[in-house]
Amino acid sequence: MTVTAEVLAIGDELVHGGLLDTNSKRIAAELEAIGLVVRRFTVTSDDPSALREVLAEATARADVVVATGGLGPTLDDRTRDVVADLLGVEQLLHEPSWERIQQWLRQRGRPVPDSNRRQAMLPQGAVPLDNPVGTAPGFRVRIGRAHLFALPGVPREMERLLQDQVLPAVAELPELTPVAQHWLRVLGPSEAALGERIEPFMVPGRNPAVGITASGGLLTVRIVATAATRADARSFCLATAAELRPLLGEWVFAEGTTELPEAVAERFALGRKTLAFAESCTGGALAARLVDVPGVSAVFQGGVVAYSNAAKQALLGVPEALLAAHGAVSEPVAAAMAAGARERFAADVAVATTGIAGPDGGSAEKPVGTVCFGLARADATVAWTVRIPDLGRTFVRDRAVFEVWRALLREALDGRG
Ligand code: AMP
Ligand code: MG
Repeated sequence: MTVTAEVLAIGDELVHGGLLDTNSKRIAAELEAIGLVVRRFTVTSDDPSALREVLAEATARADVVVATGGLGPTLDDRTRDVVADLLGVEQLLHEPSWERIQQWLRQRGRPVPDSNRRQAMLPQGAVPLDNPVGTAPGFRVRIGRAHLFALPGVPREMERLLQDQVLPAVAELPELTPVAQHWLRVLGPSEAALGERIEPFMVPGRNPAVGITASGGLLTVRIVATAATRADARSFCLATAAELRPLLGEWVFAEGTTELPEAVAERFALGRKTLAFAESCTGGALAARLVDVPGVSAVFQGGVVAYSNAAKQALLGVPEALLAAHGAVSEPVAAAMAAGARERFAADVAVATTGIAGPDGGSAEKPVGTVCFGLARADATVAWTVRIPDLGRTFVRDRAVFEVWRALLREALDGRG
């Protein structure tokens, strides 16, 4: 049976343009992963009448409503008040939560203002959701047919309560059809070519359902199965994945939610190869992203941002004559940057980027979006150029970064990295 959900983001700062609602995206992704169908997001201010209207509507439509925000200690955080009002009940002090709040503040050497008591007040009938990483507990309560989960707005606290308390509770709802999903991450073919290859699997109504999503230059084949039990759904998924793998061959670079930099780091670690960067137009974005990967110190030696010609000479040993003859954005310079980084960082492989991100600096020969790449390894140094569409500096930089991950993954897959 379809269990529907709505996600509610509550906070003045969200509707006044001060802060982007990121909580809803996280919550929806997790709810969908366990088989709920998310029908709507609503972002609302803390204003009680607006909030009341939105809560009443969402809980009338959906089976599950997950709300974040408005659980702070101050009077402008109104979620508890509005829920109590909507249910026509009083708020009661939940003693254990009040104890926990006081203990939390004292442990951090902070005063315990009486206003924090508000955070331990819960609408009568609500079940507290203990918050081990902050002061405000969340709560769950039935409103009509809906199960409402109210969580703190702080993303770290929201995430903890979502994982520990909301998802396990929602997964147990008797109306929920057990579901499982498995992703194959694909790099190489166009979406159309991939679709043709797996067409027989993409017929509507198939269980497991197979679909393709495209994002950030990558394709993902999503397999979603429903069954009588979660374990059955899981094994249906894996059976379809096993049928698909031979059709996709080396297009599949990872399974699950692995992103390209994670896959690159993993392949380099497996091959016991090290990596360095010489970055001009990417400005350190490659290094910054790679160090997101836990344990990458086994792979990543370091990188330099060499933006000026002088920096390219001093830090990477690019000959002045090369810069004068070909210009900073050229394949010979990209190759020299990569070779310089490889040598100076004593890495097995080094990659360099140098390009014209715009809006100025383009020419007929080298328009904005021209990016040259260099890749140095023990046996050779190669360079190539990509003409990225001129859709703004961020776009050009992001595409250049993607191109490097793509090249490094190829390098690793070909057994050289
Ligand atoms: P609150 O629980 O309303 O006091 O929220 C505490 C803080 O969490 C806010 O000041 C924001 O910085 C952050 N926050 C609240 N709601 C969201 C949201 N939907 N997405 C991202 N951050 C949020
Ligand atoms: Mg707030």
